[in-house]
Amino acid sequence: MASTDAGELAEGSRHDLRHGLSPEAPETEGYNDRAGEWGYVHSYESASRVDGPGIRATLFLSGCLLRCQFCHNPDTWHLRDGRKVPAAGVIDRIAAFAPALRAMGGGLTLSGGEPLLQAAFSYRLFAAAKSMGLHTALDTSGLLGSNADDDFLKEVDLVLLDIKSWDPETYRTITKRDVAPTLRFAERLAAIGKPVWVRFTLVPGLTDDPANVEKIARFVAPMKNVEWVEIQPFHQMGAFKWKAIGLEYKHADTAPPSAALVNRVIEQFRAAGCRAR
Ligand code: SF4
Repeated sequence: MASTDAGELAEGSRHDLRHGLSPEAPETEGYNDRAGEWGYVHSYESASRVDGPGIRATLFLSGCLLRCQFCHNPDTWHLRDGRKVPAAGVIDRIAAFAPALRAMGGGLTLSGGEPLLQAAFSYRLFAAAKSMGLHTALDTSGLLGSNADDDFLKEVDLVLLDIKSWDPETYRTITKRDVAPTLRFAERLAAIGKPVWVRFTLVPGLTDDPANVEKIARFVAPMKNVEWVEIQPFHQMGAFKWKAIGLEYKHADTAPPSAALVNRVIEQFRAAGCRAR
């Protein structure tokens, strides 16, 4: 697929480092993207297999208010690190991919960063994708779930919801934020029957406490809208970004979870009644 016909939207990998591309960008905290005619974007991948069903175009939006200790992409935390692009240009790019995405049973996923930080921009992209007959997926931490009003959610076929911990103290240790908005968003999605895949990042020594896993599993299991719980094993592919940006990285010595640990956690979710993988 062509990568630069708009001269602005950068095709690449989520694992590429993007830093300081828009020094004039507003502060991320408190950002309000009212009209959504422009957005700040890290990059996009045109053939992702890991961001929802089928083969997908995944756009990684800049800006996130969480500060996850194990974040693989700390270069998506600030709007200033992304590239400012017009929604119309992104939509043109999506239109170019649409026939292939439809043929491959895929669609458009907005990820980040946190797409709900740029809710108006995300809404425009989702609405355009739906008008092209594409399946749409929102990858979110749920912290800003209240930014997704009912009209927004009508344009979303699937929510990939990251629940990083149940225990509030552990959640705050991991993210520096409260877990409550995420759980409220999960309950709202359940109430309207919106399909959800819950994602749980498994970090040895941090999120693997059996009691913590058990509580997430018991919370999720009764939710009929939750199609999958996906265990995402911690990895070190983002470690170099922390160093490059000059951030203190607490997990330099953390190993990925063993197969036995991954299986234990999957089985915990299954035992509670979840479809887990
Ligand atoms: S929510 Fe995602 S992008 Fe934001 S800090 Fe956590 S892992 Fe990184």
